[in-house]
Amino acid sequence: MTDRVEILGVKVDAVTMIQAVERVANLIDAGKPSIVATANAEMLLRATHDDELKNILNAASLVVPDGAGTVWAARHLGKHMPERVAGADLVLELMKVAPAKSWKFFLFGSAPGIADKAKAKAESLYHGIKIVGTRNGYFTAADEPVIIEQIKSARPDILLAALGVPKQEKWLAAHLDELNVPVSIGVGGTLDVMAGAVKRAPLWMQRARLEWLFRAMLQPSRAGRLLALPKFVFKVHKQKING
Ligand code: UDP
Repeated sequence: MTDRVEILGVKVDAVTMIQAVERVANLIDAGKPSIVATANAEMLLRATHDDELKNILNAASLVVPDGAGTVWAARHLGKHMPERVAGADLVLELMKVAPAKSWKFFLFGSAPGIADKAKAKAESLYHGIKIVGTRNGYFTAADEPVIIEQIKSARPDILLAALGVPKQEKWLAAHLDELNVPVSIGVGGTLDVMAGAVKRAPLWMQRARLEWLFRAMLQPSRAGRLLALPKFVFKVHKQKING
């Protein structure tokens, strides 16, 4: 078991990428339906005024430190946080080891066509990978029984849900037992990135911890979301002072 660091009321696991992959492997072996969350600053900030999300995150089997903001926050609070474990990177690491372990994936979410493109990309990158189903993320309540049946009957080991935060976490929590998938991960825009619909920042920008800036530049509609960052910094600092 690794340590969990409480940031704005949410317990985040102090794991490296290697440990995160190991933890997912253990969850698959255990076979009980579980949720893995990727906590960035925006998600942690949202959880301060969304109790449902906060409870889901605190009940999750693994919460990885997604984003430079989360790593900064833990360290600012004087806690050990080894490295950033970005959701998109975790998905790639899992896909890399999947063929040897015979893990099966289901890709759920994003606009029509995106999950299929992400599937094709994964199959070209990771020879022998099993992606047992795809489904876009635009649906009404009336479509849900069919979607749940589609996922259930495909019997994946890992369900990647890309519906955005907090929709993906809430949807997974609501249907966890019914879906009966060992590991479900909310992955935000990861399928868009895999499909090539949204580009990731160049490596130098990722290393300089500027991926957020790159995303805002590419999709100006997201720029408003950057306001979450100073708010996050302020709240974390308040937590540090108040203990
Ligand atoms: N999305 C979806 N269904 C919805 C709303 C959003 O499938 O009802 C998808 C959207 O197409 C995108 C992803 O969810 O692929 C959200 O991406 P974003 O980068 O905004 O994720 P976040 O930052 O919220 O994790």
